[in-house]
Amino acid sequence: MIKNTTLDPLVTDIRCEEICQILGETYNQERWNNWRWQMRHRLTKLEHFQKLLRLSATEEKGLLIAPEKFAVAVTPYFASLLDPEDPLCPLRLQVIPRQEELIVSPADMVDPCGEDHDTPVPGLVHRYPDRVLLLALDSCAAYCRYCTRSRLVSQGEMYPVTRRLDAIAAYLEEHTEIRDVLISGGDPLLMADEPLDNLLRRLRAIKHIEFIRIGSRVPSFLPQRITPELVALLRKHRVWLSLHFCHVRELTPEVAQACDRLADSGIPLGSQTVLLKGVNDSEKALKNLFHGLLKLRVRPYYLYQCDPVVGTAHLRTSVQTGLDLISKLRGHTTGYAVPTYVIDAPGGGGKVPIQAETLVAYENGTATVQNWAGKTYTYTDPVE
Ligand SMILES: *Cc1c(COP(=O)(O)O)cnc(C)c1O
Repeated sequence: MIKNTTLDPLVTDIRCEEICQILGETYNQERWNNWRWQMRHRLTKLEHFQKLLRLSATEEKGLLIAPEKFAVAVTPYFASLLDPEDPLCPLRLQVIPRQEELIVSPADMVDPCGEDHDTPVPGLVHRYPDRVLLLALDSCAAYCRYCTRSRLVSQGEMYPVTRRLDAIAAYLEEHTEIRDVLISGGDPLLMADEPLDNLLRRLRAIKHIEFIRIGSRVPSFLPQRITPELVALLRKHRVWLSLHFCHVRELTPEVAQACDRLADSGIPLGSQTVLLKGVNDSEKALKNLFHGLLKLRVRPYYLYQCDPVVGTAHLRTSVQTGLDLISKLRGHTTGYAVPTYVIDAPGGGGKVPIQAETLVAYENGTATVQNWAGKTYTYTDPVE
């Protein structure tokens, strides 16, 4: 059980009590810190959010209509972080649907990354030669409105990995070129410890699999799940973790405690961020987030250009915006705080890194490069 010694209970307790009241529960700190209680008491309905937040017209419409297309759910913990007054709160924009979700713009796609095309076994995407993406479940702790897998997640059409494991293991055993398995979502850390342990043991038993990582937003939406038992399990199987954070306000004392537990156990931590309009599309927002992650010993790994998923145009920025933002970070701050900016190429091309040109000329064995401050330098190749 998480003891609140490292937290500041006075700041959040009042909001927690309000949320429990909305849910018809009495507030109890121990229950609040139990991840299963959090999952059982997620906020999903318009009535919940009407009591929690001063909703804007677009959010109200979104909450009425959007759930038919893509589920709405927010853990009580994450709900306690939403600004009740400000519909443009960067956390609200990520989890509360807006009427704009119903707009289909010309570039929008149902399966933007073309994953279904590269799926040899249900829930296994084999795109790159040496690694696969294994989809664990079809549910998450909360639903990101820009989800790249909204066609699968929360749709109730994919069995959990435990029921598909034989087929997956058979494929992996046969394909000896696969050395890396990325288990992602639906969120794998919503599995109970025992089935997760079984899954990891089964993968570890395959000799050619050297590297296993889990992609999860649980540390952001439900840090209570990062129990000492779960951490020991991840440590036992030598797993790497890719977390998902989009705004510095997600980095609460609870999240800091979860990251501390993971890092103290030697679990390497990376983070993936989606560039989102109004959420983190400014130099300040990205710097604060990436610096905040480094303080928690989390290395920013990828910054994604938002995939053209149906109904997400209102959250997408231009590629130029992303290029400009990365140029303002690269060289200006700690290299570890600068993730690789990528476009996951629509149609199934995989992740393609993009960066403003730094090689400005390359002639007769001399490269002219431009540094972070805009000055140019030359580097001459050795003579053959
Ligand atoms: C992102 C992704 C991977 C892992 O890519 P890395 O660049 O190694 O992090 C593997 N398979 C699929 C389908 C992916 O989308």
